[in-house]
Amino acid sequence: MGEFELIRRYFAAAPCAQPGEGVVQGIGDDCALLALAAGEQLAVSTDTLVIGVHFPHTCDAFLLGQRALAVSTSDLAAMGASPIGFTLALTLPQADADWLQAFAAGLNQMAQACAMRLIGGDTTRGPLSLTLTVFGRVPAGQALTRAGAQVGDLLCVGGALGDAAAALPLVLEQRTAEPAIAEPLLARYWSPQPQLAFGQALRGKATAALDISDGLLADCAHIALASNVALHIERERLPLSAAVSSWLDQEKAWDCALSGGDDYVLAFTLPQQHLAQLQQDGWPVTVIGRVSAGKGVHLFDSAGHSLAPSARGYQHFGGTGDITKQENGT
Ligand code: ADP
Ligand code: MG
Repeated sequence: MGEFELIRRYFAAAPCAQPGEGVVQGIGDDCALLALAAGEQLAVSTDTLVIGVHFPHTCDAFLLGQRALAVSTSDLAAMGASPIGFTLALTLPQADADWLQAFAAGLNQMAQACAMRLIGGDTTRGPLSLTLTVFGRVPAGQALTRAGAQVGDLLCVGGALGDAAAALPLVLEQRTAEPAIAEPLLARYWSPQPQLAFGQALRGKATAALDISDGLLADCAHIALASNVALHIERERLPLSAAVSSWLDQEKAWDCALSGGDDYVLAFTLPQQHLAQLQQDGWPVTVIGRVSAGKGVHLFDSAGHSLAPSARGYQHFGGTGDITKQENGT
């Protein structure tokens, strides 16, 4: 199977590669062409995933396709952008039909769930790696950036934290757990759901936002720095899933929630006046702290005592999202 046959069979023919809203020209010419309405801005983000670094050698192709697109699309959610499409630069050691079939199916499933269209890419031979570039639209000036947090705002997250970090020993086949624990945790790791609609609902309300990819503490530090404020987090308020709470002891669960990456839920700062309406509308808002004057991210217990995050948590779930580092515990 040659390069063009491969592109046609697995990618150009996929349901997610068919023309649609905002895509004037998809796969097949020298460039894709996207249409933006007057008053809109284009949101663009690129992520590369390399075998052995971002996913294990034993990784299932379907799950990899799903996860690669989810992780990239989450950046659009974090900006409050609406999805348009994505490109896929794929480097493969060989054209294995079974692998390509499964990978394309996983990619397609996530693309359809996120209303994303495959609009182009590149196909080369080499060690397995994927580069996805995602494109979205946002009304001019309304994107949610990391820079607008105001002293007095609430610090909030959009869902349970720590599931993906707790899943990592299962992903790496270092531990096993009963299905009632393993299944929801592995689902959170392999098919995170980008909070696209939620991100759009936060436009005009949240003052700063991002998606949690490297861990709550590490990512909140980006908001603190960009907004020139301090973020105070109350540990007892961190939302934990039933699976994490029942499987891990309390300290370990908090470590996963604070320092584990890969959850892809939104973290954002919110003026108090918007909280009740968002909750009434059914959005998954959990208040975990507040924005204060100062610098950095500070952790407290419910009695208001300052806590230093445990070094073990920092090291084992080392904040880089790098699977080999996590594997080595460095
Ligand atoms: P060019 O030589 O102009 O770079 P290519 O031969 O690389 O074009 O690709 C031909 C068409 O197929 C282009 O529209 C390109 O965007 C698309 N394409 C190539 N690889 C992929 C892929 N892995 N997924 C989706 N589209 C792809
Ligand atoms: Mg090319």
